[in-house]
Amino acid sequence: MASALGRYQVAKPWLGSATSVLDVGPGPRGLGVVRAEPFVGLDVAFDGPPVAPMIALEYGGRTMPFQDAAFYTVLALDVLDALPPTARGAFLQELARVASTGVFVTFPAGEPGQARDDTWRALLAALGEPPPDWLRRHEAHGLPDVATVEAQLAALPGWRWEVVPSLGGLPGMMLDLADLLPSMDRWLGPVLAGDRAGLEAWIAAGDLGPPARQVYWLAREAPVPARVDFAVPGSLATALACPACRAGLGASAGGTLACRGCGATYGPDARGVTGLRAPDEVPAASEFAAVAGPRPAPATAPPAAPTKNALKRWLVAGVRAVPGGERVVGKLRTMLHPPTAAAPAPAQLNWLARYLPARPYMTPASFRSLLEVGSGYRGVGVIADAPFVGLEIVFAEPPVPPMRGIAYGGGRMPFKDAAFHTILSMDTYEHVPSPKRPGFLRELVRVAADTVLIGFPAGVEGRDQDAACQMLFPRLGLNTPGWLYEHAEHGIPDIAEVEAMLDALPGWRWRALPTTGSFANMLLVLADILPGMARWTGPAVRGDPAALARFITAGAFGPPARQVYLLTREDARPGLVDLAVPGSLEAALACPACQGDLAGDAKALACRACGARFGPDDRGVTVLTAPAAAPR
Ligand SMILES: [Zn+2]
Ligand SMILES: [Zn+2]
Repeated sequence: MASALGRYQVAKPWLGSATSVLDVGPGPRGLGVVRAEPFVGLDVAFDGPPVAPMIALEYGGRTMPFQDAAFYTVLALDVLDALPPTARGAFLQELARVASTGVFVTFPAGEPGQARDDTWRALLAALGEPPPDWLRRHEAHGLPDVATVEAQLAALPGWRWEVVPSLGGLPGMMLDLADLLPSMDRWLGPVLAGDRAGLEAWIAAGDLGPPARQVYWLAREAPVPARVDFAVPGSLATALACPACRAGLGASAGGTLACRGCGATYGPDARGVTGLRAPDEVPAASEFAAVAGPRPAPATAPPAAPTKNALKRWLVAGVRAVPGGERVVGKLRTMLHPPTAAAPAPAQLNWLARYLPARPYMTPASFRSLLEVGSGYRGVGVIADAPFVGLEIVFAEPPVPPMRGIAYGGGRMPFKDAAFHTILSMDTYEHVPSPKRPGFLRELVRVAADTVLIGFPAGVEGRDQDAACQMLFPRLGLNTPGWLYEHAEHGIPDIAEVEAMLDALPGWRWRALPTTGSFANMLLVLADILPGMARWTGPAVRGDPAALARFITAGAFGPPARQVYLLTREDARPGLVDLAVPGSLEAALACPACQGDLAGDAKALACRACGARFGPDDRGVTVLTAPAAAPR
């Protein structure tokens, strides 16, 4: 459904004044996914009951059962690639013959089309799912050759053609993912029911990366009136042609059609589909089965790996209980869940989905005095190039400039009150053990002088997303990532509980912000992780950053994937830190052992009160943990 929506949305602008539309190879819904007006759907075999407003007809797969110029516009989306190469030229001629004005044709082609098939073959094999029919047809017939098709289009007398911009490769793959992965209906369903316009706007923003499909608009040089006009009752019957003898058909008793030439009769079957086949024509489904063999039975899914979560939780809780335990847990986690062998992409899509919605609430003053709590090694640096301070318990990778990395013990933050104008903290709160969450919030508002932006997966959307990942990753043979273990360990936050805590912060106001929807977020997470998807995410991430930002920002539709809150201090003040002023960060630091002032610079700091000394580690991270807690 999502994939079809993407294809039909590209076609929709070309149907504006069409009085009648024929959709060839529509599947059960066809054009109905984007248009409410009646249309004729023609297929060799419907694999499900056709859905209104489609008027469904089946044919034998060769000559279409219509008079010439029967329909104003004819569509054939991803049909040419399902046909044997020898049948493709004649198919294009048939489309042009039955169209009075224009023909819209799409098909996957070229290297991107092949890469799409390869990605899908590998993913479905890993899931133990049989390949869908379209993939098996591609294997049997090969994808269309663009030069050959364009030569066939050029040879259509009285027609001219043009290439139409198509959905980009990455958005196309993401919509395919929504159709082909198990359990994605959980996210697509609420969107289709509640925010269809949002999904359409997202697709419209999807011209990212090389498209996997060729799209053509063919126009008749001298358009003629179409025989079928759905505003004129009975006009469809005048456009039908007997599949046996090409004579006209007329309505006869019992809703059947009778040929005026040979007398053959045709009527609807139990599904409401009228089969217009000559006696010697067999359904192309069985024709295809002869080429590609019977559809394979679903393979038994590999059993899910046994989880060791309970043992892991018990071990982690024990280590946490000792002083400095947070750091040890962080280090252990890095050892247990090392980054995958593949080099990380320059920016991950799910990072952008986190930060871009918060970006409009960050002012120039924010960027002069910005602390990101739980930044990881890239943090907000994926969307901004102004310097900022990143605070972590353990950095899994060396911090990437313009971040200045500071490590702490996980309790009180090593800063004076109101040290930073703005504090940003995305997808960190849910990693804080539940009993420590109120204290974590109090620390954020203690250290922030003006603004706190905090976001995290929460509520039923957050829990269901984790559950889907828990199910999917082992089926794909992927290691469960460390963040997923932590979510399970600490529990996805409850929205009402968090908002009660925000209400209880004295001197602060808060409101929830719009953010990436869970349907888009789920697909962005999967695009980052699934094997083979780097082929699609890489060009989008390295290409036009503005186009990528538009696409990700347009992902804010349907139920949100995370809660994002803007907290503002009632007596707002400038932060102590001005990152443009050397020394102002050091002046805002507080000794983690005694809260005293620190003296020195990034290379060496000493507490004026207790004399404790602090400095950068071998990755350039300033380590500000209380000496008693640091491992000796
Ligand atoms: Zn006939
Ligand atoms: Zn001290």
